[in-house]
This record gives sequence, structure tokens and C-alpha cells, in this order.
Amino acid sequence: MSFVLSCPNCGAREVTDFGYGGEVVPRPRQRPSFRELNEYNYFRRNRAGLQREWWFHRSGCREWFVAERDTTTNEVRWTALPSEVPAP
Ligand SMILES: [Zn+2]
Repeated sequence: MSFVLSCPNCGAREVTDFGYGGEVVPRPRQRPSFRELNEYNYFRRNRAGLQREWWFHRSGCREWFVAERDTTTNEVRWTALPSEVPAP
């Protein structure tokens, strides 16, 4: 399975150019409980549908960025540098 991702710095490239960094998960509060920390480290929603994800352009600019992708179709709605991610 292949699809195209658009790096905010380099433009459109095959997905094989990138490394997947997992779902975007909100960081816990400053002093999380063990349960909150466990959820942050290990629990994922694994959503069927639109999901925000971390991607790493390993064969290009080596920058991390966020993409919103439909996990059922691999359609990528948008990509953005972390500082430019729109509010959910
Ligand atoms: Zn890049």
C-alpha cells in the first residue's frame, strides 16, 4: 500500500520517504498520575477515520510534522509543522 504525503518543507513525496511516529496524543498534566502516564505511553485510539499523526521526513529534510489522515482510505487532508497545526 502506498500513498503520497506532502512534507511542509519539501512537498509531495511517496510515503516510503517518511517514518511514522504514531497518533498525536495530548501530553499529560505537569505531574501525571501513574494511570495518566501509562495511558499517555501505551494507550492508542487506533481510530478508523480521520486521525492526526506524527511523521518524520527521514529521506529528506529530517523534520517532524503532523498530518491529518483518513486511516480507512489513506487520504491525507493536510500536513503542517508542529507550530502551525490548526486547532482540532
Ligand atoms: Zn521534508
